[in-house]
Amino acid sequence: MADDFENREELMEEEKEEKEQEEYENFCFLCRRPESQVGKMIELPNNIHICSQCMQKSFDAMNEQMSSGKMNYLDMLNMPGISMIDLSNFQNPVQKPKKIKKKKEEKKPALDLKKIPAPHKIKATLDEYVIGQEYAKKVMSVAVYNHYKRVATDTMDEIDIEKSNMLMIGPTGCGKTYLVKTLAKLLDVPLAIADATSLTEAGYIGDDIESVVSKLLAAADNDVEKAEHGIIFIDEIDKIAKKKNTNQRDVSGEAVQQGMLKLLEGSEVEVPVGANSKNAMVPLTTVNTRNILFICGGAFPDLENIIKERLNKQASIGFYADLKDKYDNDPHLLEKVTVEDLRNFGMIPEFIGRLPIIFTLNGLTEDMLVKILREPKNAILKQYQKLLALDEVKLEFEEDALRAIAEKAMEKQTGARALRAILEEYMLDIMYEIPKDDSIGQVIITGDYIRGTGGPRILLRGQEMPLLEG
Ligand code: ADP
Repeated sequence: MADDFENREELMEEEKEEKEQEEYENFCFLCRRPESQVGKMIELPNNIHICSQCMQKSFDAMNEQMSSGKMNYLDMLNMPGISMIDLSNFQNPVQKPKKIKKKKEEKKPALDLKKIPAPHKIKATLDEYVIGQEYAKKVMSVAVYNHYKRVATDTMDEIDIEKSNMLMIGPTGCGKTYLVKTLAKLLDVPLAIADATSLTEAGYIGDDIESVVSKLLAAADNDVEKAEHGIIFIDEIDKIAKKKNTNQRDVSGEAVQQGMLKLLEGSEVEVPVGANSKNAMVPLTTVNTRNILFICGGAFPDLENIIKERLNKQASIGFYADLKDKYDNDPHLLEKVTVEDLRNFGMIPEFIGRLPIIFTLNGLTEDMLVKILREPKNAILKQYQKLLALDEVKLEFEEDALRAIAEKAMEKQTGARALRAILEEYMLDIMYEIPKDDSIGQVIITGDYIRGTGGPRILLRGQEMPLLEG
């Protein structure tokens, strides 16, 4: 009992001492200065504190003794109360790596109204890449400007005008896809390109119609908000025309048009995240297509005949009766397209009604092909010139050579798409042979080389001619 009592007294005294120590400042054992004056001190056993200055001094002194041979390293380690301390830690206390607070990213609107370039600026940028197609560029610039202005001001619902979904009609290789791609890049919005031929009514073999929205979500890095301001381009839209004279269910034609109505208009779609098809393992998210801009494109073969038929029918009545073949060679025939013609082609009225902006693109002429070769910002010629410039070889194309390439491309009837294939064929030998010979300074591609009646002109270093304009 008495022992217990004594123990308790001892404990109380210890506690008292500790409390007193907390109340008093620590003093440096050597220089007697308080902690408030010298900063944080090193604590040694037996409640001894030493300030960093004194510690440094003793180390300096020890170093001196050691260098003069009066003391060795072992002696120093045996000194009472001294353990190896990294003094630098003390003088420049290691700062804990501060957690860099992630600045909460301000939620910027995906589209800033002030940043949407005016239509003429959009067109000017398109001009840098796309040759010709003036009317199409103008229509698209205005439509896109209006669409995003409505999206940014959130007046899609209030204003009763439908969104500026577009239908582009033009022969293959005339720049439909290229225009849309350039536009999306310029506006910095995600773009999904889908092929209408692969779409079928849900439940049938092929892609569900909603898969176009998952493509867009993927293009937006699964950012739903970004995807909701994106562009979906559906190519080959003429392939989903109503099949004529069929008794079977038209799962890849009319049914696809029907299925797309809701998407075009704006609806909530459940799409799989990070996958193309819905299944039990893939999480779903909801995307609203209300602000997504849909652009459909197609070549619509035979549409010209439908237009011609209609025009001829009109023209054969009354005073304005015309010659029957008046429209046979009209290069602007396609521009005269009406909704009625599209309906006759096999597009259902509800579908066309949801694509209020309909315009046509011209087939490319030989002159346009020549321009496409050398004028756009990323023209194919410029790309080859850059490649050879890396080998310090100048590459030059004669005007006649460009004509010859364009002529060949025209024969293929695939628009500008043929250009690269043709050029690649002729450039292969050049790209193969030139790096072999260091003395070559310049290569001039001649018209004869393209036509197969001659070869390119090769100039050695020192003989080069200045590059011609273009
Ligand atoms: P489509 O009209 O069939 O969609 P694309 O847009 O895919 O044709 O054109 C194929 C390629 O041809 C493009 O990648 C582009 O390089 C080139 N091209 C087509 N039209 C033009 C044009 N008007 N100006 C510049 N390049 C063009």
